[in-house]
Amino acid sequence: MMSPIDPFLPRTRIAYFSMEVALRPEMHTYSGGLGVLAGDTARSCADLELPVVFVTLASREGYLRQEIDAEGRQVDHADPWEPADWATPLDAMVAVRIEGRPVWVRPWLRVLTCPIGREIPILLLDTRLEHNDAADRAITDRLYGGDDVYRLKQEIVLGIGGERLLHALGFEIETYHLNEGHAALLAAALLRRHPRPPGRPANGGLRYDDDRVRERCVFTTHTPVEAGHDRFDYADVARLLGDFIEIDQLKLLAGADRLNMTRLALYLSGYVNGVARRHAETARQMFPGYAIRAVTNGVHVPTWTHPALARLFQTVAPDWGHDPEALAVADQLPDEALWAAHQEAKAGLLAEVERLTGVAMRPDLPLLTFARRMTGYKRPDLLFADVERLRAISRGQPFQVVMAGKAHPRDDGGKALIHALSGHMRRLADEIPMAFLPNYDMALAKLLVAGADVWLNTPLPPYEASGTSGMKAALNGVLNLSVLDGWWIEGCIEGVTGWAIGRDRDGGDHAGALYDKLEGTVLPLYHGDLGRWIWMMKESISKIAARFNSQRMMRRYAAEAYLR
Ligand SMILES: *Cc1c(COP(=O)(O)O)cnc(C)c1O
Repeated sequence: MMSPIDPFLPRTRIAYFSMEVALRPEMHTYSGGLGVLAGDTARSCADLELPVVFVTLASREGYLRQEIDAEGRQVDHADPWEPADWATPLDAMVAVRIEGRPVWVRPWLRVLTCPIGREIPILLLDTRLEHNDAADRAITDRLYGGDDVYRLKQEIVLGIGGERLLHALGFEIETYHLNEGHAALLAAALLRRHPRPPGRPANGGLRYDDDRVRERCVFTTHTPVEAGHDRFDYADVARLLGDFIEIDQLKLLAGADRLNMTRLALYLSGYVNGVARRHAETARQMFPGYAIRAVTNGVHVPTWTHPALARLFQTVAPDWGHDPEALAVADQLPDEALWAAHQEAKAGLLAEVERLTGVAMRPDLPLLTFARRMTGYKRPDLLFADVERLRAISRGQPFQVVMAGKAHPRDDGGKALIHALSGHMRRLADEIPMAFLPNYDMALAKLLVAGADVWLNTPLPPYEASGTSGMKAALNGVLNLSVLDGWWIEGCIEGVTGWAIGRDRDGGDHAGALYDKLEGTVLPLYHGDLGRWIWMMKESISKIAARFNSQRMMRRYAAEAYLR
């Protein structure tokens, strides 16, 4: 009998492994930037008809549904979704051995269809099967949930289970793309398929053909934050994996003390990259001895363009959805039409702000927005470093503020930041309209990146590897006001595509620089020279959408990483 995966088998040559992939808001298979990027990657693979299959977890319980309570604190909830509503179960199963028991893994197939009809397959791995022990059924349930041992089990299912499943389904994969270290056990699984040929001397004690594995693996690292790199105790690894691969061999590849998934992926990948120029530089310092290249991220332009702007783009660049470079001509858009489209997007956002929080905001006042994961290095509280100065600025040049973002359930610092923001907002509410929107996800992000006037970003350099939400904002004509880090070092043309907070590598007073720029440049332009503001919106669209898109990003991966 024909299986729905069969049409994809003959042409697929590349497998993209990612712990999270954001396909659509109703499928809770992502937490934030990493997953949304993987989703945009998949969408561009379909657009460009690249021969790729995606492998991820089903994450039936989702990542986190965020509620904000009356005191302004985050309350964590599971965020379940039903795979049967959005995907087809495949009639195939493989077992991986974990703690000595076989754990059965079954895939769901979601076919991603791009606007011009091209399709690629996404496999969502699921252990919630009656063949499995009760505890093992939960392995693929909760994205980034549980403790280290739970995480290691998930990474075994993704890396080892995923590799085995592709074989069982009949895929003939040449190149594997490891999206972040979570998928590194895939490279260990490949080692087992490539023993060292007899007669060839072992390389420093390694009994496998690591050169052959490197030919097949591409690794993208996504964060300079230490906690973003998984490390596991070898005692746990030995207990869970048994004799799947010898611990002495793993130690040669991934560190003597703990199994460092980033090291494992680095060692076994023939092409390694960071996600922006500065991030690649930082990664080279963190991991000396590896050739780490830079492929700057991009976003899927049709996915993140507001319908009102999409209609406008159609008039100047009919092929913009498929070929976003065509948006270079967006500087030719008529001012009135662009402003009207922007005001339509803003009205949509303001309606949602009022529905969610009861706060009524004004369409004629500039709207500053900060939406991202709530965690220390992103400094969501920098805007409130000097509350009296903020008040004083708003008296002369009124503005309003919307914020959103989730803290990881175990990030107490991130949760404290959310609570502190709510406090600042309440104290300032008499003078500056402010709101914190709960449960930042793809759907809310679409409204925010199109309906804001200014997209604010204040990370502590060099920890923002790339960032992508500012690209989504820019292609909707929302102007970036950001510390120079990640992609913005490449995207910022001061006073043209947006504004910088502080200077590159200044290590300086970013709060002061933020207030100065707001007071002296950004707000005066909005209140005093709307014509120039609209000119900047057009520059932002034409210069940023044409370059920081996932079509360009995937053409580079295809040419430089996959076709080595
Ligand atoms: C784009 C996006 C992100 C990533 O944005 P950053 O700029 O990296 O913070 C995170 N979450 C959602 C829901 C997004 O759409």
